[in-house]
This record gives sequence, structure tokens and C-alpha cells, in this order.
Amino acid sequence: NRKVVLRGYIDRAPREDDMELVDGGDVALRVPEGAAAAGPAVLVKNLYLSCDPYMRSRMRDFQGSYIPPFKPGSPIEGFGVGRVVDSTHPGFSAGDFVSGMTGWEDYSLITKPEQLRKIQQSDIPLSYHLGLLGMPGFTAYVGFYEICSPKKGEFVFVSAASGAVGQIVGQLAKLHGCYVVGSAGTNQKEKFGFDAAFNYKEEPDLAAALKRYFPEGIDIYFENVGGPILDAVLLNMRVHGRIAVCGMVSQHGVTAPAGIHNLFSLISKRIDMKGFIQSDYLHLFPQFVDDITKHYRDGKIVYVEDMSVGLESGPAAFVGLFSGKNVGKQVVRVSQD
Ligand code: NDP
Repeated sequence: NRKVVLRGYIDRAPREDDMELVDGGDVALRVPEGAAAAGPAVLVKNLYLSCDPYMRSRMRDFQGSYIPPFKPGSPIEGFGVGRVVDSTHPGFSAGDFVSGMTGWEDYSLITKPEQLRKIQQSDIPLSYHLGLLGMPGFTAYVGFYEICSPKKGEFVFVSAASGAVGQIVGQLAKLHGCYVVGSAGTNQKEKFGFDAAFNYKEEPDLAAALKRYFPEGIDIYFENVGGPILDAVLLNMRVHGRIAVCGMVSQHGVTAPAGIHNLFSLISKRIDMKGFIQSDYLHLFPQFVDDITKHYRDGKIVYVEDMSVGLESGPAAFVGLFSGKNVGKQVVRVSQD
């Protein structure tokens, strides 16, 4: 059972060598008797693992967050999709496909099976349960509908627009009848049928660029990035605009965070700026799955993934999130069966 473990805590941007692949020895393909005695457990063969920006905060030795740090020497934890190999939980049987918190390893023993979800949709790629139908898709769904209060015809700007969350936000906004512009860090990233897209690295004056794309101003900004883009957006918001603060990937672990100079716009334009965490809205998850599955089956939503192959490719794939290497949702394929 190979494992990718965290070597030790870090207080800077993650590097590939902060993690290492170790051989965990043979694994018996049964739930061990000791584990079964402690309560129902499920042994899962991991097929796909998710790389998500929040995982970086678990690499720090900091207990005060909403999620505890990883344990050095233990497999990295994250969302995954797997196949049940053995189960002592009545809700799961060998052969079921499941998604949920798992480990960066070939096989994981899940001792809290109640947090696993059985995958029902056989026509949707399994790995999409880490993106389109998983946590990032849900983040886009609740962020857009619950926080942005969108109206048809409004002007919507999304940063990190071709990433796991951003690509869905923009497509939902288009389906809602909004005008959508996205930004990303290379010209190669997918545009997803948005009305326009630009490469923020090629714009020396972000405020002027936004003025070009939104001559009448922005009603909704879906914030994934933070820093200078946020400052430029504040200057371009319309009165009664909304900013959904989903993430600030440019500010993670930055020792001198970017100064934001244009906060006065919050008052002068009566802007509603609100942070959110998707897990506060889990009561909406079933509705999200129904709605997004329907859009996908009707061909109204597409999803782009960046699939890296092999458990050993996980560290590089994860680190790449912080320099924009991923084109679409970053996943790691551990095994196809
Ligand atoms: P992505 O798939 O969008 O990957 C991260 C992207 O961020 C990169 O591809 C890159 O795209 C961009 N990026 C990285 N570093 C920088 C930088 N220094 N400056 C500008 N852009 C940068 O990730 P996700 O879609 O999974 O996550 C998007 C955001 O949503 C993150 O901030 C994440 O933390 C947040 N999030 C929040 C949740 C919540 O509940 N609030 C839940 C899930 C995610 P490029 O540069 O090409 O644009």
C-alpha cells in the first residue's frame, strides 16, 4: 500500500519535496478484525484523489483553523473517489463506488463510513464527484445562488475562472442569463462560452482592463483570488453590487498580504461583500446534485479536468495549483479499477 505523506509542517508555499511517496507494506483486502470491533468500517481502493487549495492550510502546524492540520508521516487526507473492497457497514458493499474523505494511498480504511457517499450516477465520470458533483461544484452552486443573489442580465466577473470552482460559477451565471467575464493566468485556459475572458498577467492596469470589459460596471464579483484583482474590482463595482468571497488563493501564506486600497467603494456603492464556506450549506447538497446532474445530462454544463496519472504524481499536481499549472479541476488518477 503506497502512501504520499507530509514530511513535516511548513510555513511557506508548498513544494513537491514537502511530501514523499512511501511503501506502506502489504494490505490485507479485508477490514481488520480490530477495526471492525471498534465500529463499522469500509476498506476502499482509491481511484481518484482531489487536489484542492484549502489543503495547503493543513500543512501548517496551526490548530486554530476550522480543519485540523495533517499529521506528518501519515497519508495526506483529501476528497477521493474509490471502490469498496470490504465493508462491515450495512450501507456499503464490495463493488460500490463511493466519494468522501480518504487518504493519499492505494487503499484506505474509512472508520467513519457515515461521511462516505455512495455514487449513483453511472453515466457521469467517477472523477467528476471530486469537481462538478463534488465540493468545488457545490461551492460554486451555493456561492452563486445563496451569496450573489443573481438577477438575469447582470454583469458577472469571476477570477480563477477556468478552475474547479470558477468554471461552474461562470456557466451557472450564463444559464441564469447574466453577462460573464472570467480571468485566468494563461491564454490557453478554456473559456467555457463566457462572453469574454482575459489573462490578468498580461494586463498592466487591472482596473482599466475591467473598465474595458465592463463599461457599465460589475454587479457580481465571484472572488477566488484576492490581492490586486480585488482592489481593481472594487473600483469597477456598480451600486448595490455583491462580492462573494469564496477564496483568496493569491494570499495563502503570504507574509505581507496585498494592501487593499479601495474599500471605501463598499460604502459609496453600498456593496454587499460576504465570505462563505460551502460546508455551512450542506442541507442544499441533494438539490445541488439534482440540478447539476440535470444540467450536465441536458448538455448545458461541461466540465474540464486536469488529470495527473499515478499516486506518485500527486505532490507535483497539488503544488501546481498555486502557480496556475492546472487547466481545469486538478485530480490525480491512482487506478482505473
Ligand atoms: P482552481 O482549480 O481554480 O486552482 C487554483 C487557481 O488559482 C490556479 O489554477 C490559478 O489560476 C489561480 N491562482 C493560483 N495562484 C494565484 C495567484 N497567486 N494569483 C492569482 N491567481 C492564482 O482552485 P479551486 O477552484 O479549487 O479554488 C478556487 C478558490 O476557491 C480558491 O481560493 C479556494 O481556496 C476557494 N474555495 C473556497 C471554498 C469555500 O467553501 N469558501 C471551497 C472550495 C474552494 P489562474 O492563475 O490561471 O487564474
